Amino acid sequence: MGPTKSEIAPTNLDELVTRVATTLMGVDSTTLRTAAEAVLRVLVEYFEVDLSFLRFHDTARRATVLVAEWPPREVVPDPDPLGVISFESADPAFAASEHLADILIIRPSDSAAYQERVKEGSGVEETSVATVPLRSGGSTTGTLGFIKYGDRGWNADETRALRTIATLIAQMQARLLAEDQLRHIAHHDELTGLPNRRALLAHLQATLTSPPPGPRALLFIDVDRLKATNDFLGHDAGDRFIIAVAERIRSAVGVGDMVARLGGDEFVVALAGLADEAQAATVAARVQRAMAEPIRLGGQSLRRTVSVGIAVAQAPTAEVGVWLRSADQAVLTAKDHGGNEVVTFTSEMRVREEVRVAVEMSLLSAIRDGTLAIHYQPVVDLRTGTATGVEALLRWYHPTLGPVSPELFVGVAEATNLAGELGRWVLDGACRQLAAWRRERPDVIGGNFTMAVNISPVQLLAVDFVDTVAEVLARHGLTGRDLVLEVTEHAVVGDADAASATLRGLRRLGVCVAIDDFGTGYSSLAQLKALPVMILKIDRGFVQDLGRTAEDLSIVRSIVGLAQSFGLDLIAEGVETELAAETLLGMGCTTAQGYLFSRPLPAEGLLNWVSAPAAPAVPSPR
Ligand code: C2E
Ligand code: CA
Ligand code: CA
Repeated sequence: MGPTKSEIAPTNLDELVTRVATTLMGVDSTTLRTAAEAVLRVLVEYFEVDLSFLRFHDTARRATVLVAEWPPREVVPDPDPLGVISFESADPAFAASEHLADILIIRPSDSAAYQERVKEGSGVEETSVATVPLRSGGSTTGTLGFIKYGDRGWNADETRALRTIATLIAQMQARLLAEDQLRHIAHHDELTGLPNRRALLAHLQATLTSPPPGPRALLFIDVDRLKATNDFLGHDAGDRFIIAVAERIRSAVGVGDMVARLGGDEFVVALAGLADEAQAATVAARVQRAMAEPIRLGGQSLRRTVSVGIAVAQAPTAEVGVWLRSADQAVLTAKDHGGNEVVTFTSEMRVREEVRVAVEMSLLSAIRDGTLAIHYQPVVDLRTGTATGVEALLRWYHPTLGPVSPELFVGVAEATNLAGELGRWVLDGACRQLAAWRRERPDVIGGNFTMAVNISPVQLLAVDFVDTVAEVLARHGLTGRDLVLEVTEHAVVGDADAASATLRGLRRLGVCVAIDDFGTGYSSLAQLKALPVMILKIDRGFVQDLGRTAEDLSIVRSIVGLAQSFGLDLIAEGVETELAAETLLGMGCTTAQGYLFSRPLPAEGLLNWVSAPAAPAVPSPR
């Protein structure tokens, strides 16, 4: 097979220009060097010179950078003295090329001094040099150079062709630059200049697929309380703050590690090479330390902590999306704990996430298809051992997940706007049950027997909540006195104004309000006093081991004292031992719930329990 058309040497200047144009056509930054070498080779052969080179200006660095040369040098030192040459330190020929406007030809007869230098450097007697500037938008962007040992002149046709070729190269250079910029914009965050999400995902993918197999770590970093910062400083300063944070993070990690910004106040660090949880934790600590110094913004100085989530993936089997989500989830957990914390993603968290997704998808239908149920736990008078009422507790037996904890799915419901629907369902079901018991078994369930229902903060803050409660009570022929609503401290204190309006409305209905999990929140006594609540439920965390630890004892004692001084009723939850029951009674707390008496039971079971309490001996007061 003979040479293809493009391999046939050009026989005139027109063919030469055409050849250069076709060679440059599809060039991108990855093929630039090979294509440029091919062009230089054709030029060297056509013009019968000894060597040729192509250099691009790097205006930012005020330097000229070697792109390609022909013929290639046999030995290229590292670093290459011809690679990047600063215009400031360059020899006069290079220095002159910075703003060169037209072809510069130097022949042996032109400059004795120059020839002398070349001779010293290369040992070549006489040299002819032609330097053709690449021009773009009125400025010089590079040079195309030819060297001939001995004398060589260039005629007008040749220099015309050289100018045309230089123009073709300059156009290609401008196109590559634009493509580079586009690529940069597509892969970088505008504000900080860091790689963006797209670049990060590509990098993580490459990290997972490149050897060696083994652990790879990433850190998800989230600035604590940034929204408050923006509200306080305004957006401009907020932006400058983010830039400063980006610099801090950059300074805390290794050069090979990638720092990307996902937007807002979210940053990700992908550690280079093999990295396990311990290494990631070390880097996380460094990032936290870097954030400890206040950041100065104009007149203000600001300090913000960061939350860090760590996720370790096994290359090459791990999946990028899962990996990043895991780190995201770990940082959310860190935030849930109050921020300024480092949390590593665990397989437990993965299960939780799977459950969350499953729950979200099937909760609504569960409300409708009956896989959701209400169980009832007796509230017991410690002095008599009899039930004064029950607490309604949701139960969900998921077809594939099995029993799902109410703590989990109530949280999901709140996060997905199902809380209202779920709450109404429980309230209605619990009230219906109480009415039914009273109707069917008045001998067991008397008129003072109360139904306690847990209310999520979302429900409490709904404007029509009091109306909803009134409606449900009326529907089942109950009064406010039959119902206890349990709310957490957190819910009433979080939005105190809205909450207390609702609580007052409930009080007008005669509904009793209990503060659930008391002792775990932060409410001050003053806040409590202002709220129309009637019952404190001592959190089970203090009760389970009561009598065995001095600390629980003193906490419970002070809660009892508090309730007495405010005239509030008390219920202790989580009574599992006789010792705890006796201790409570000794302190003057007479009402309790707990596994010692009964676990939460289905309606039928509860009725049986109340008819004949299974609890053995009722602990007697000392
Ligand atoms: P909670 O309101 O503090 O409910 C008491 C929890 O303690 C129940 O867990 C109950 O089964 C458990 N418990 C009772 N006695 C003992 C004991 O002696 N020892 C121990 N270790 N635990 C005991 P459960 O049913 O898993 O409910 C967990 C949480 O889910 C509840 O905490 C409540 O915050 C929420 N929840 C349950 N049902 C509902 C509901 O209908 N609506 C709302 N908003 N939340 C609900
Ligand atoms: Ca409760
Ligand atoms: Ca509780």
